[in-house]
Amino acid sequence: MTRPIYLDYNATTPVDPRVVEAMLPCFTEHFGNPSSRTHAYGWAAAALVDDARRRVAAALGVQPEEVIFTSGATEANNLALKGTALAQAQRGRHIVTCATEHKAVLDPCRTLAAQGFSLTVLGVDRFGRVEPPQVVDALRDDTILVSLMLANNEIGTLHPVAEVAALCRQRGVLVHCDATQAVGKIPVNAAALGVDLLSLSAHKFYGPKGVGALVVRQRHRRGALVPLVEGGGHEQGLRSGTLNVPGIVGCARALELAVADCEGEAQRLHTLRNRLREGILGRLDGVVENGHPVERLPNTLSLSFEGVDGAALLVGLRELAVSPGSACTSADPRPSHVLEALGLPRHLAHATLRFSLGRPTTEEEVTAAVDIVVRHVQQLRRATGRR
Ligand code: PMP
Repeated sequence: MTRPIYLDYNATTPVDPRVVEAMLPCFTEHFGNPSSRTHAYGWAAAALVDDARRRVAAALGVQPEEVIFTSGATEANNLALKGTALAQAQRGRHIVTCATEHKAVLDPCRTLAAQGFSLTVLGVDRFGRVEPPQVVDALRDDTILVSLMLANNEIGTLHPVAEVAALCRQRGVLVHCDATQAVGKIPVNAAALGVDLLSLSAHKFYGPKGVGALVVRQRHRRGALVPLVEGGGHEQGLRSGTLNVPGIVGCARALELAVADCEGEAQRLHTLRNRLREGILGRLDGVVENGHPVERLPNTLSLSFEGVDGAALLVGLRELAVSPGSACTSADPRPSHVLEALGLPRHLAHATLRFSLGRPTTEEEVTAAVDIVVRHVQQLRRATGRR
């Protein structure tokens, strides 16, 4: 049986063979613990981590000591939010975020709210975007942190993070940005964005799973962030635990490759994404496109189909690997909180497919995907008496 066409690159990506190649010696030859400071095995591993840290920092426009390696973006987000809130509680207890954030931001925010922090969750416009004046209006004297993602994982909408960060800075409010879906897909420079904290995850840009980083800008240091994981003082005391050397080396190599290729690849995927979009919209009526028409990731297309049952839509689509919304919450039968925040009616939110294209995606795959989707939706509509 042939495997379905994979169009779910926002959920995860295959590891690039060049990344695997860079990682392999770390499992065998350079297996040392970078914390072993008394022998050559440890020194070799520490040198690999130092080199990886320098490369990640350079790719993001920050200093090496500003990169804290974590197990991925979920942990990075938790550290950014809970670590800042706990450290800053004396200064204030108000946090601002947005309704379409990933659960890895919303859940820690809700936990903090249950612990006595005050939370403002900003709504979005019909394209899924927050406007800077909304953020300014939400700021209070006791606001300590604003958390706003750069690119949404389900609909691809980009937020004006640099503008928001500049406005927050004037008010002395810290800014965290979950850039997990943006890194590698569009240029991301943490310094130019002007944020204090930035999360990323290697498996979204052809690196391994289980590794990522939190960028902690220098000005957000000393006492401004407390660790969640303690025990040995690794990563400047902000994230203890023996370092995942192969993962860290893989993360750095993957980021370097993605950044080198970013512009050309973004253009290629943009063209393919538009071909997919026009192919489907040109042959089917009653299709709603979600996300911002322009301020959007080049690889992402979210479409809602009128007149079809959501469950049937996905179940019958065996030749395509796509997502009903966020892969991380697809075990949850409620409609996606992102689509709900857009104001999409429930029946449409349920009948939504997220297509996300990636490095291996070909023109032939896109052409085939258009045929598969059109045929399938037409069949479902015929079965329910709708043309
Ligand atoms: N934030 C966003 C925007 C994401 O898309 C994801 C992954 N779905 C995460 C955070 C969580 O990342 P990780 O898989 O590294 O925990």
